[in-house]
Amino acid sequence: MKVLIVGSGGREHVIAWKVAQSHKVNKIYCAPGNAGMEEYAECVNIGVLEFDKLVAFAKEKEIDLTIVGPDDPLVAGIVDSFEAAGLRVFGPRKNAAILEGSKAFSKDLMKKYNIPTAAYEKFDNPDDAIAYLEKVEFPIVVKADGLALGKGVLICNSLEEAKEGVKSIMLDKQFGDSGNTIVIEEFMIGREVSVLSFVDGKTIKNMTSAQDHKRAKDGDQGLNTGGMGTFSPSPFYTKEVEEFCNQYVYQATVDAMLAEGREFKGIIFFGLMLTEKGPKVLEYNARFGDPEAQVVLPRMKNDIVEVFEACIDGNLNQIDLQFEDNAAVCVVLASDGYPLQYEKGLGISGFENFKGKDGFYAFHAGTKKTDTGIVTNGGRVLGVTAKGANLKEARANAYKAAEWIDFSNKYYRSDIGKAIDEA
Ligand code: ATP
Repeated sequence: MKVLIVGSGGREHVIAWKVAQSHKVNKIYCAPGNAGMEEYAECVNIGVLEFDKLVAFAKEKEIDLTIVGPDDPLVAGIVDSFEAAGLRVFGPRKNAAILEGSKAFSKDLMKKYNIPTAAYEKFDNPDDAIAYLEKVEFPIVVKADGLALGKGVLICNSLEEAKEGVKSIMLDKQFGDSGNTIVIEEFMIGREVSVLSFVDGKTIKNMTSAQDHKRAKDGDQGLNTGGMGTFSPSPFYTKEVEEFCNQYVYQATVDAMLAEGREFKGIIFFGLMLTEKGPKVLEYNARFGDPEAQVVLPRMKNDIVEVFEACIDGNLNQIDLQFEDNAAVCVVLASDGYPLQYEKGLGISGFENFKGKDGFYAFHAGTKKTDTGIVTNGGRVLGVTAKGANLKEARANAYKAAEWIDFSNKYYRSDIGKAIDEA
């Protein structure tokens, strides 16, 4: 079968790597893909939001299954475009991807269906938002409703900061129309855990847990980023937490979407916060996390294409989802300066060190192939991932492998997975 993967990051690289192992697949295309994906796939230069071109390509090449990686095309309705053309595609339709696309929608859904989450109010008028802020306690969290590349969330310690946040989101339109509505939310304290799940509309099956590190610098300092590293499983995701979420969060979310006439097929990413009062949903995403996918998928035993097809066909209850009894750690190698300014086009060496080494991977994120070799082409350059019998071993392996790669201005956090020492 022929598969098309839409996207170009580390998440799509690990999806391509996993799809390449499927006995059902004999040809993979990626749009637009990256230098690492070329090892298993033919990359075509079509952007993730160019739906007409993507649909035409899928028809021309008689693609049997398209898998969509990133959030923007899902929220903009790529699945609807493919389905309208009679093409098979994995991911939620536009009316279900709103679970990630609108924080006001997801908060209202959780409230209506009693899914535990932080208390909140939503506003589409800045004066009302400011009047409300004058009555609350700080810190408080101000969020742009729509997608904002992970930058639309402001943790405000004072009324002044919060007013400034409302102004920049709603009046200065820092995130465009994503800021037409805002959510003001109670500040929660706790550890964050990510759980990714396959969903076929009715049935939900969870993958193994993971934990990420969003801040740029060691000790969770510095600016927020797309993610500087991950580990899986999370030792803080205990049986007790899992049972609580089975009862109040996972199936409840899928049922709520169905009840709203928004059947969800695809991946739901549950961002959970483990508070003193129990687990609460921080956020939903409607796709694999990046770099969570880089530590979860290498541990998955199933043929991923069979699982994607079961989600599309509504047969997920027949899949026995299985994960290896080990651990994985991903250390993101970034260009120094990320997430602000950084150089591009710097030569990368050392990929040959990964050849023939089981359980060691260099998943590409911001890379480009040139006549002189592979060069950096983004802030997050590679996600070096390693497995181990347990988290400590996986972490030692990942940091060993991080040294195998070389490029000027290479930067990475030295404390990915350090939290496991406290478990
Ligand atoms: P991304 O898409 O990058 O995951 P996002 O823009 O969807 O992020 P959220 O996940 O809602 O935003 O928030 C980003 C981060 O802000 C969270 O991972 C968490 O650390 C912090 N955060 C969000 N809401 C709260 C809250 N109510 N209390 C405390 N911290 C919060």
